Amino acid sequence: MNTFQAPKGTYDLLPPDSAVYLAVREAISAPLRNSGYGYIETPGFENVELFARGVGESTDIVTKEMYTLTTKGGSELALRPEGTASVLRAALEANLHKAGNLPVKLWYSGSYYRYERPQKGRYRHFSQVGAEAIGAEDPALDAELIILADQAYRSLGLTGFRILLNSLGDKECRPVYREALQTFLRDLDLDDETRRRIEINPLRVLDDKRRDVQRQLTDAPKLRDYLCDACRVYHAEVRDLLTAAGVAYEDDERLVRGLDYYTRTTFEFVHDGLGAQSAVGGGGRYDGLSEMIGGPELPSVGWALGVDRTVLALEAEGITLQLPPATSVFAVPLGDEARRLLFGVVTELRRAGVAADFSFGAKGLKGAMKNANRSGARFTVVLGERDLAEGVAQVKDMESGEQKPVPLAALVADLTAKLT
Ligand code: AMP
Repeated sequence: MNTFQAPKGTYDLLPPDSAVYLAVREAISAPLRNSGYGYIETPGFENVELFARGVGESTDIVTKEMYTLTTKGGSELALRPEGTASVLRAALEANLHKAGNLPVKLWYSGSYYRYERPQKGRYRHFSQVGAEAIGAEDPALDAELIILADQAYRSLGLTGFRILLNSLGDKECRPVYREALQTFLRDLDLDDETRRRIEINPLRVLDDKRRDVQRQLTDAPKLRDYLCDACRVYHAEVRDLLTAAGVAYEDDERLVRGLDYYTRTTFEFVHDGLGAQSAVGGGGRYDGLSEMIGGPELPSVGWALGVDRTVLALEAEGITLQLPPATSVFAVPLGDEARRLLFGVVTELRRAGVAADFSFGAKGLKGAMKNANRSGARFTVVLGERDLAEGVAQVKDMESGEQKPVPLAALVADLTAKLT
């Protein structure tokens, strides 16, 4: 085994590419921060029971994909495979829902872990930015979240994504549909595992990607035909609000999503440039989840957008984000005295808010200039012995190549003025 190899299905984020990930997280969270969502951070692991009860004991996530461990003290923990159950657990634990200010709107950003078969866009460690609005049943809230995700993607310049929308019904109408679907599915020619799934979670059979399964599903009963009036009206309102906001969506009756807790509105953002792993984000309403994990009735809605896949979507669309340069000024001292003086200048520049870096280690002018070039700095300041004697530094504009002496006393002010 090569010791310098990240575990299978994982990868490291390294500069300069890592800057794109930071920018994506920032872009996805910006619309949330601007819409009343407060930041929440929960542990990277939880009691395994939370996910078993919350995500659903029949889901792939819980049965196959969870990283579980037993602590030395005998607790059964799981690395979090998703964010919603943890965020709801934290909100209930802190009684946020009792503060009299519903919905509780929260956003988060972090690492998630699923033991999946790795491929492009599917990793065992990945990154999501998510949002949850807890404790309100209001179609405007569902619409708000979809609109904010749309806004986030558009702010990155993405246009090649589509929004798939569906309603899964509620505790009144979904069981009736479930039974009709089970009756239909039991007559099909399916393998044993799929047969078992019919009894545990028949809606997920609709999600089966295999062609021979899909072919048999053409005449499956449609949830749309079973929605109760309340669900129908609710869904129509969500759709109207999206349309009024100019957000285009496609109705997708097959969209059931891989988690058990969804009710009513479900949606997925898919990007057509990503191949098999085309879902860049998804979410929906989970009115029953709080009760499933032992809390009070708290109808809620949320989404999670994948940072890794959003970066792949940017690549697929050939979008290069305009990121501020990591370094604006690079300082190159020649000699010990110049070194002390320029280090002070760099400190001052940084305190003035200018991104500045310094040529560290004993290097000749040539090596230092190479570093200056690589840093992407707009200006390089060179201070040689003769400059020092004359009380100036050479400021080189790395774009035009032009170089000018600037009095040392005016250096910080001069560079700050040039850069702001
Ligand atoms: P889900 O909770 O499965 O709907 O995931 C929400 C989003 O997280 C997906 O749309 C993906 O963008 C991302 N995601 C989920 N699983 C993975 C994975 N194994 N690797 C990379 N991204 C993932």
